[in-house]
Amino acid sequence: GRESPGSDAPPAVELDGVTKRYGDTAAVDDVSLRVREGEFFTLVGPSGCGKTTTLRLIAGFEDPSSGAVRFGGESVAGVPPEDRDVGVVFQNYALFPHMTVGENVGYGLNFADPPEGVTRDERVAELLELVDLPDAADREPESLSGGQRQRVAMARALAPGPDLLLLDEPMSALDARLRERLRVQVRTIQSELGITTVYVTHDQEEALAISDRVAVMRGGTPEQVAPPRTVYREPATRFVAEFVGDNNVFAGRVADVEVRDATGDETARTAAVDAGGETLRVAVGGEDETDVAVGDRLTFCVRPEYLRIDGGESRIRATVASAEFLGETTRVTLDWGGRDLVVRTRDPLSGEIVVGFDPEDAHVISVDGT
Ligand code: ATP
Repeated sequence: GRESPGSDAPPAVELDGVTKRYGDTAAVDDVSLRVREGEFFTLVGPSGCGKTTTLRLIAGFEDPSSGAVRFGGESVAGVPPEDRDVGVVFQNYALFPHMTVGENVGYGLNFADPPEGVTRDERVAELLELVDLPDAADREPESLSGGQRQRVAMARALAPGPDLLLLDEPMSALDARLRERLRVQVRTIQSELGITTVYVTHDQEEALAISDRVAVMRGGTPEQVAPPRTVYREPATRFVAEFVGDNNVFAGRVADVEVRDATGDETARTAAVDAGGETLRVAVGGEDETDVAVGDRLTFCVRPEYLRIDGGESRIRATVASAEFLGETTRVTLDWGGRDLVVRTRDPLSGEIVVGFDPEDAHVISVDGT
């Protein structure tokens, strides 16, 4: 590992205008990203958006068609994967079936010596301890559960003491419960080591749960790079709003803009937006969004947990279309003039209902002038 960085330390990993083409398709399209030292950074997005290719470019399994990949400020162009000090774990764990767990982990040490003063066996024991499998050294990989095998794969990847850990969908072959447990363990191991980690998943919930920052990718390019809370509450684009969690996205023309001084804040404004035959009030105050004028087209979203039955200032009459009981809540899909709205409730709902939200619970995604 490296020393902990000052604020102007170069990023642990930097992609600078990186493009990777296969024939006519750009799998990765002009991507610029910076991963900080010690950060847990996740690439998330739908199938085919370029996550794996981005990770392979970082690992050195692929070379960029253009642009630069840098580690700690230095280009790694031409540096083969085995010389990049990275540990990689893939979806299919790929343990050697004819070796014991201990031998599998020890295999990771064939490419690097254990730290000074530590024997190979001690290092293996230390790693198995780290992944919470202290007694598994003599077991056959076959006798382990999927989650345990992935932890062994992590121990093997970490054995040489890499600077960077790259994980590509390491949990996607596991069942939901195990995934939830393993993601906590992965995060704990990562924090304990303080190792810079780039993680690939198509599962947005997993991405939010595990990461310091998330890059939401689409068509080879990140649409937003931000901490989980920001990506969830303040999606930068309609795509992010719809991909990350349930969302209710609205769009319409601004009918009026009004300064609200109820809060005593002179910059607090709301816009009345004509959407689907209703007039919905949306907060547009704050530094970035004050430039809203009558006639602009405004796109905004309201998270399901902010849509209240019979509450809120902006109200919508809609019909219950379907409901899924999820245990903690029921996820109800409403039909609002042919559009879907999602709301979460504790009590069952049916028929025609009124849901609403307050202006400040809406997040403005974009404003397009006329
Ligand atoms: P998934 O979640 O399905 O693995 P992904 O987001 O990881 O998807 P990539 O595997 O990076 O996406 O693929 C991005 C695009 O590049 C896809 O359209 C894919 O078909 C294409 N692609 C990836 N690798 C190659 C290759 N070796 N040759 C040709 N096309 C490729």
